[in-house]
This record gives sequence, C-alpha cells and structure tokens, in this order.
Amino acid sequence: MSVEPGRQVPKVELAGGSFIPQLGFGVFQVPPQETERIVAMGLAAGYRSIDTAAAYRNESGVGMALAASGIDRSELFITTKLANTEHGHDKALVGLDASLEQLGLDYIDLFLIHWPVPAHGLYVETWEALVELSQSGRVREIGVSNFLPEHLAQIVEATGVVPAVNQIELHPGFTQPELRAAHARYGIVTESWSPLGRADAELFANPVLVAAGAAHGKTVAQVILRWHLQIGAIVIPKASSPSRLAENFDVFDFELTDAEIGAIEAIPQPGRLGGDPATFIVQPGFAA
Ligand code: NDP
Repeated sequence: MSVEPGRQVPKVELAGGSFIPQLGFGVFQVPPQETERIVAMGLAAGYRSIDTAAAYRNESGVGMALAASGIDRSELFITTKLANTEHGHDKALVGLDASLEQLGLDYIDLFLIHWPVPAHGLYVETWEALVELSQSGRVREIGVSNFLPEHLAQIVEATGVVPAVNQIELHPGFTQPELRAAHARYGIVTESWSPLGRADAELFANPVLVAAGAAHGKTVAQVILRWHLQIGAIVIPKASSPSRLAENFDVFDFELTDAEIGAIEAIPQPGRLGGDPATFIVQPGFAA
C-alpha cells in the first residue's frame, strides 16, 4: 500500500467498518498529571487519534482533554487496551467499564488486548469476551497487541473472528517481516508501537535515514514515520512538545522512493526495545 502525499491524514478502514487515522499519537509514559495538557497540545496540532491503555493510568487525563476540546466525538478515534490483570471473560467486561468511565466516553473506537500473557492461558477466553463486547455498541473495533502468529492462530480458530488490528513493536531497528506477512495473510492491519524506536541515538544517526532526510528536506523522525505510512502501518508516535508533535504530523507532503524504502528495511536490526510477547507479563514501570 502506498500512501499519497497530501495534507490530510489518510484513514484506513478496519474490519468493523470504522476508519482509523493512519497517524495518531500515543501516551505511554505520559504522567497522569500531564496527560490532559499533552493531549490538548496534540489535538491542537491536528491529531484526532489517541492511543492509551488502562495500564498507563492516564485514561482520565485523555478524557478530560477530549471533553475540553469541543471536538465532535465522531471526529475522534480513541484506542485503549485491556490491562494484563483483566484477562478472562468477566474481568474483560469489567475492564471495559472501567476504561469507559475513566475516559468519560460511551464507546471506544478500538479496544485491544494489551498483551497475550500466554503464561496465564486466558487470551482465547479474553478474545471471546471482546467479540461479545463488539456486539454491545460500546466498542466499535476489537483487536490485539503484541500477539505472535501462534496467538493469532488460536483466537481465530476459536472464534472465527480476526482481530482488526495487531499493535506491535515496529521501527526500522525491528521490522518484523514474518509477523507483518502473517498480518497480510489474515487481513489484519499492522499498528506500530515505539514507531520512532524511542528516538534511539544510534538509530537516528543511521546513514540511510540521515541521507533520506537530507534528500527530502525532512528530519530522521519524519523519514521513519513516512516509512511506516508507506508500508501501510498505523503509526502512533509519542511526543511531549508542540514542536515535536507538529514535526511528527508534517509527514504528508513527501514520498520515499522504493529504493529508500528497501534501504530502510535493510538497515541493522538490533531487535526489540520492549518485552517479548512469549514471556511478557506486566508492563515495565506499571503495576498493571
Ligand atoms: P516512540 O518511538 O514513539 O518514541 C518516543 C520518544 O521519541 C520520546 O522520547 C519522544 O520524546 C521522542 N520523540 C518524539 N518525536 C520526536 C522527534 N520528532 N524527534 C526526536 N525525538 C522524538 O516510542 P513509545 O514507546 O513512546 O511508543 C509510542 C506509543 O506506542 C506509546 O505512547 C504507546 O501509545 C504505544 N506503545 C504501545 C505498547 C504496547 O505494548 N501496545 C508498548 C509501547 C508503546 P519526548 O516525549 O520528550 O518529546
């Protein structure tokens, strides 16, 4: 999928018929007391899609910024995620209620299982609960995060329902070709977390990225975000200042060449920055 340059944020249709903006912003590690201010800055910069999670403990700050913005609900796309402690059928229902209350919303656009936590053996049952919730009107789209191909196979086999999205760690230092290929086979939309590779200094100094930035008059962060857009991924960078939020939003007026895309896919792969979904239980730094 190629995304044409232009001023508008393109939207991608999801399995339930909703359209998600291809660029949003994420609020992992945004302190609860700063969340309302930072989300308000993001909305002012033009973002309409926000990615939070119960485990981030900042859903209420997101909700306050949404309420204060005056932006029509239909123009917003809000994603939240079920905490790892809320696996299992009944806990998943309670988890959704808690997130809706924190966010001050009567529906969530995209509700994700945050991690599969295979050690707990409950992700299939949890997915069954999300399928049920998708019929309640309180969740427009359901998906997963950090699911490996074997986890995807289990939930699809059990329910026949394919997640709209799998939100996974994806950046030029960890391009995950096999998992992306599995998404393509299922028709799952890939959403990239830590899309900037957490602005890792070595990644940002990579000559391929620096050269592409120089060729297009763009920053390395903008080149990386453009790579995500052009491979068809949804991208949710986190930033804390108006200038960075604006910089990350200004990625719709240039296009990387096929050669540049190929060169980015071939840069060194140091691997994961975050947890391994096969073993991960609790979000680092959060009592999730
Ligand atoms: P990112 O790759 O988005 O990197 C964020 C870092 O990059 C911050 O330190 C930020 O600094 C910096 N940065 C932002 N813009 C620029 C820029 N233009 N130039 C230089 N540096 C920049 O990593 P995150 O881990 O924050 O991931 C983004 C989102 O993905 C999260 O907020 C969350 O929504 C989601 N996520 C989901 C996970 C999951 O398990 N599903 C796990 C991790 C993340 P500063 O803030 O100081 O501006």
